[in-house]
Amino acid sequence: MTSLSPVLKQATPVVVDHASGCWIHGTDGRDYLDFTTGIGVTSTGHCHPKVVAAASEQAGKIIHAQYTTVMHQPLLALTEKLGEVLPAGLDSVFYANSGSEAVEASVRLARMATGRPNIMVFQGGFHGRTVAAATLTTAGTRFSAGFSPLMGGVHMAPFPYAYRYGWDEQAAVDFCLRELDYLFATRTGANETAAFLIEPALGDGGYLPTPPAFLQGLRERADEHGIVLILDEVQAGCGRTGKFWGHEHAGISPDVLITAKGIASGFPISAIAASAELMGKAWPGSQGGTYGGNAVAAAAGVATLGVIEEEGLVENSRARGEQLQAGLKQIQAKHPVIGDVRGYGLMQGIEFTDADGNADAATAARVQQTTTKYDLLSLTCGPLGNVVRLIPALVISEEEVDEGLKRFAAACDEACG
Ligand code: PMP
Repeated sequence: MTSLSPVLKQATPVVVDHASGCWIHGTDGRDYLDFTTGIGVTSTGHCHPKVVAAASEQAGKIIHAQYTTVMHQPLLALTEKLGEVLPAGLDSVFYANSGSEAVEASVRLARMATGRPNIMVFQGGFHGRTVAAATLTTAGTRFSAGFSPLMGGVHMAPFPYAYRYGWDEQAAVDFCLRELDYLFATRTGANETAAFLIEPALGDGGYLPTPPAFLQGLRERADEHGIVLILDEVQAGCGRTGKFWGHEHAGISPDVLITAKGIASGFPISAIAASAELMGKAWPGSQGGTYGGNAVAAAAGVATLGVIEEEGLVENSRARGEQLQAGLKQIQAKHPVIGDVRGYGLMQGIEFTDADGNADAATAARVQQTTTKYDLLSLTCGPLGNVVRLIPALVISEEEVDEGLKRFAAACDEACG
């Protein structure tokens, strides 16, 4: 009998029968409160009626048009709709299928636009699973172990992980910006650096908001040295952090913005946005692919952006995120093994550390497993595996947040000892 390969590691034993809103109904007959959203994807909840209707209707018109052969209306509509939310000046967009592809495309774009070879990433960043994206990923050696050599030209600077350093945020930011300047002197000159690639809040690398002052420091250096600032908004974008884009928390704007996940409520599509001037520096035909910008996914994207706007989901993400964080802090007060609770909006991380301040991955894993027992789905993250992340749909209600907190508290009481 054929079975699924063990190369796919399962976080929970749940097999889905159907799902709706914040709930997954298992083939085991149980109703799970979903605080994973397919790793931050089903922004409008599972099977939002407007997204289902848009995708179903589009599937009856054309499913696959191949956007470099014939253009189709959903992609034109999505581009127009994205224009309403993209930062000013980022008026040129193209599409791919996944976050990894979009990340790779952005790196190719930055290299072509600057004629420079090197990309600077920041420790703990997660940018995907393909060989190039895995090279850019420093959220855990497990993401690139065993299949080197990786892509050349990638260098890594420290990330201001204030909690881990035991410093205040400003001290961590000052240190990391100084180290970045030192890297320019010791490892790769600023004039050989094509791009900075960073997430507005680390996702798989531990659910750590990137301090605004750090992003501002990168923006200044990018301007000074002609470096392209690429913001990977794949996980943090589309309302997840309580602002439409994660970088809005820092009041800066990127040169290239990458979005995926939450943009189409589960249909695979990603977008890369930059100024027409920057895009014009790449040769026509340098980007593309068979499936990028699929018509059904694009229609789902238009519907998703519509729902985010009509239902005030960015505001809901902020308000429900505050509620979730306040509840988690109450749980933290009962359990010394919870060292830190942090996050923007509905992107909350709970970091587990022992009495000496060392990462406690075993407890984090136990808590994550135990939440399933209480019919709450959660995930872990972080290079050291000691962070539990909660990432519910942006449509979540006040009552559902309370219910999730109740279940999470029960799991902590059982698993933290
Ligand atoms: N960038 C970020 C910030 C991500 O969170 C992810 C996925 N977790 C990716 C890129 C890669 O996206 P995909 O899995 O769609 O290739």
